[in-house]
Amino acid sequence: MRTVGKRSFFLYVLIFAFCAGMIFLSCRVFLNAGEWASMPFNAHLYDENDRLRRGSVYDRNGTLLYSDADGYAAASKEALLHLLGDREGNLSTGVFSLYAAELSGYNPLTGNAREGNLFHTKTELTVSAEASARAYELLGGRSGAVFVYNYETGEVLCSVSTPSFDPDHVPETIETDEAYRGAYLDKTISESFTPGSIFKIVTAACAIENLPDWESWRCKCSGTLPIGDDCVTCLGAHGEIGIRDGLKYSCNVVFAELARELGKEKLRKTAEALGFGRSFVFETAHTARSVFDVSNAKEIDLGWAGVGQYSDRTTPYHMALLMGVIAGGGKSAQPYFVRKIALSPGVALYTGAEEDAPLNLSPQTAGALRGMLRENVSDYYGDALFPDLQAGAKTGTAEVGEGKEDTAWIIGFLQNPKTPYAFAVVIEEGGSGYRAAGSVASEVLAVLCAE
Ligand SMILES: [Zn+2]
Repeated sequence: MRTVGKRSFFLYVLIFAFCAGMIFLSCRVFLNAGEWASMPFNAHLYDENDRLRRGSVYDRNGTLLYSDADGYAAASKEALLHLLGDREGNLSTGVFSLYAAELSGYNPLTGNAREGNLFHTKTELTVSAEASARAYELLGGRSGAVFVYNYETGEVLCSVSTPSFDPDHVPETIETDEAYRGAYLDKTISESFTPGSIFKIVTAACAIENLPDWESWRCKCSGTLPIGDDCVTCLGAHGEIGIRDGLKYSCNVVFAELARELGKEKLRKTAEALGFGRSFVFETAHTARSVFDVSNAKEIDLGWAGVGQYSDRTTPYHMALLMGVIAGGGKSAQPYFVRKIALSPGVALYTGAEEDAPLNLSPQTAGALRGMLRENVSDYYGDALFPDLQAGAKTGTAEVGEGKEDTAWIIGFLQNPKTPYAFAVVIEEGGSGYRAAGSVASEVLAVLCAE
């Protein structure tokens, strides 16, 4: 009996090990099969030049962007390089890297379905090749990013990062030449910048939520706000001024004073609800983290943090999303740029972007901010910047030190029901947010709204 007991014990151990092994294997197959299928030893997915097959990729209007036979389309290859990806796989957030398995024709249920002897997938992106090419041209060799999406549907219409390069002739000096610094990064999502005055929207949100008398709140701007031995400086002397006009004229004194009055804890809470301190999921890529960290800030630092300086950082993706949430009354569709990946007979291989946690903004605060940002354009920047589009926006001219020119920003949204678009433009060493970034946003949106 003792022998039988021992035997059945070993039998149970073996059965358990077998089941555990099967579960482990199934999980690995489920999670990694797509990746294995597109590995170089799987030679039938590669063409005669040893390139992984990617089928054909089109923009939102049916313009061909890439095909296995013809390579990159000349008109948009630099502009859309970061969204597509390079052949070497250095650009890890483009569709070629994120969906390598799907593009090569891999399907988790049927394996590598073939059509004749080839796997030929058709991919449609949501972006406009024409608007992207225009954005690239307008950035004009400067380092920066342009990101536009539809906050009602989530479709990304334009996503351009510079510097870029010709993927057919990768420059030999790409690693050493300062002009190509960051060329392998998609700056819309993978690089964070000092926000400067666009951060005042977050400080304003915190004031709206925490100060019952925020509409009648006033302070006096004489051009500087002394704090201890130091001071926060303003570009003008705005006199007695409230939050609404403070945002319009971008008064540093108003927002530094608000930051001190609200305090670290309340500001941190609002910033975190609006996405600071976290990264975002874009398709299956993860964005650089936006930073608002005042845990060790002195009072002067807190003042500067409230106007978007100190250690504040953010990405164009995050800022466009914030604009979409404000325009959408507290809600926005999640941005995505792949519409479909299918084998030509219509076998869908793409199941949608990964879901991300939304920003947390009440409809009341969103409504108040939307009104203020709309007034910035109608009463101050001028509607000529975005004719007939009922735009709301905020510019930023962020100081970065080290003897460098300021970082130029504009972020905003359109309320025209036909074009519910939110946008962010950043230009490193661009100088004035209004002049440098504003003109790029204005022209790119004009192209998109005419489509
Ligand atoms: Zn001022």
